[in-house]
Amino acid sequence: MVGRIREDSITEVREKARIDEVVSQYVTLRNAGGGSMKGLCPFHDEKSPSFHVTPSRGFYHCFGCQAGGDVINFVMQLEGLTFGEAVERLADKVGVQLQRDDSDTRDDRPRGPSRSRLIEAHKEAQEYYAGQLGTPDALTARQFLSERGFDQAAAEQFGIGFSPRGGEDLFKHLRAKAFSQDELVAGGLVAVGRSAYDRFRGRLMWPIRDASGDTIGFGARRIFDDDRIDAKYLNTSETPIYKKSQVLYGIDLARREIARSSQAVIVEGYTDVMACHLSGVGTAVATCGTAFGDEHSKVLRRFLNDHEEFRGEVIFTFDGDAAGQKAALRAFGGDQNFVSQTYVAVEPDGLDPCDLRIQKGDGAVRELVARRVPLYRFVLANIAGKYDLDRADGRIDALRESARLVSSVRDKSKVDAFAREIAQILGVDPEDARSEVRRAANRPAASSSGRPTGGRVAAETPEPVAPPRSAVPDLRDPRFAMERETLKLVLQHPMAIGRTTSDIGPNDFTHPTYRGVWALVAAAGGPAAGSGDPTWASRLRDAAGEPEISSAISALSVEPLLTAKAPDAAYVGLHVFRLLELTTLRRIADVKSRLQRTNPVEDPEAYNRMFGELAALEQHRRGLRDRIVGDQ
Ligand code: ZN
Repeated sequence: MVGRIREDSITEVREKARIDEVVSQYVTLRNAGGGSMKGLCPFHDEKSPSFHVTPSRGFYHCFGCQAGGDVINFVMQLEGLTFGEAVERLADKVGVQLQRDDSDTRDDRPRGPSRSRLIEAHKEAQEYYAGQLGTPDALTARQFLSERGFDQAAAEQFGIGFSPRGGEDLFKHLRAKAFSQDELVAGGLVAVGRSAYDRFRGRLMWPIRDASGDTIGFGARRIFDDDRIDAKYLNTSETPIYKKSQVLYGIDLARREIARSSQAVIVEGYTDVMACHLSGVGTAVATCGTAFGDEHSKVLRRFLNDHEEFRGEVIFTFDGDAAGQKAALRAFGGDQNFVSQTYVAVEPDGLDPCDLRIQKGDGAVRELVARRVPLYRFVLANIAGKYDLDRADGRIDALRESARLVSSVRDKSKVDAFAREIAQILGVDPEDARSEVRRAANRPAASSSGRPTGGRVAAETPEPVAPPRSAVPDLRDPRFAMERETLKLVLQHPMAIGRTTSDIGPNDFTHPTYRGVWALVAAAGGPAAGSGDPTWASRLRDAAGEPEISSAISALSVEPLLTAKAPDAAYVGLHVFRLLELTTLRRIADVKSRLQRTNPVEDPEAYNRMFGELAALEQHRRGLRDRIVGDQ
């Protein structure tokens, strides 16, 4: 097979390999009128198609990046092949026997086996493995399939096979078919230790095919307990024809349906792809031994573009586990156009499509996909789930984390919609959500957070290390002013405050230290117990177990009141009732937040109950208001 390919052979390949058919294996083309077709350019990133193909002239041209040429240039450029390799590959496809000019010793082929030889070896290997699936040794493999709901017809449809346990069965078989050891090693079918041995031994084998249907690698599942390799799945490692960052299992079966429906479903494994296709979800694909990445999304988008505007849907079926969330977040931080088209289909019981089909049938798999939700809603709901949204501080923390995430969205036109979504999910005011997102966007990355990142989702977000927030907020923060002044009254003027305090409880103090001080007061019998006792404050201080609390008692005992006069009933009332009013306002905000998160149609009973609760709280608050004003 050395020697230069003769010109007439090259011409024959050019004539027989139709450019629209070849390009269609990588890019979805639609009619552009005037005998021309167009699609998303595979050579540069674009959102509307500027890649044109004119079959009558056999040429392609991209008006975006100026890539262009004939069918051979296209294959060279897309697959990174030399001219000779591209011709060989096309000749293979269209059945042209290449004639070579032996007198010319110039050879433009690189060292190493040609792509067509590697493809040929994989075709032979796939047929060999498939043949082995019927042998007695493959009983465990057949059982594995039938336990997962796959019959013989399914195994044949997907080309599944069995690699014998011997160690060199495939090697010998392919050597007998005149493949060289170098070719088999380069293709990842055989490895070399002291001698050559089969890369896959005693495993259930899935052929992995490219979009055109050529087998380019294998996924191999462990089925024997004594398998010396622990990994549940082994996949072909990188070879000249197998790039795992681009490979999508099932793309050969799914590409037409993906183009037709503008939808692609990403599942996690070979059996899930099978289950989906057999259930009628013909758009399912899976990555092979690697996470879904940018390269995969580029491959998919070429097939998804069936319309003027990119409006395809990419649906991930991962569950809410750490890996799934990580994938979701990566997508979130990646191509923003992709994000808005990305959906998540979550099975409530955590079943993958394969198990779902076994337990609940084909319909359940179709329904899972139909129930998809937008990715951003899934991610935000995950954040919300980490916090107690019935508490104001929980809502604030959830809002901060959500806002930080949303502010990272590069497409600013989407930010407002996301802020509205946050408000809805967390039950906060939409204006608060918008301003928090703005704040997060303006915060320079280095000081973006003075607080620890909570939970898994946040932990995945790359973020410079910031000093951790002190465990408790500043006692002198204005929002605690009423708590502080009331406790000063309790400690310094227990007599004056005496009777008015019966309604105060630990919940009226939001700062943990102030709540701790109140607990000591309550344990000592309430402020009345301090009347006329000059040792009242030091008694409480002695009872304090924690240094922050005893130090707070000292401070509160000596700090002057905010009034120059001796505290009268009006001053005490102003503080006590205002303190109670603040508590009521917090409870009102909590109920309002719950109301906002409750659907009145789906849960009318809870909705009405909260509505009643809200009315009662408002009335209580009006009563407190009257007393504050009345006492003044
Ligand atoms: Zn282009």
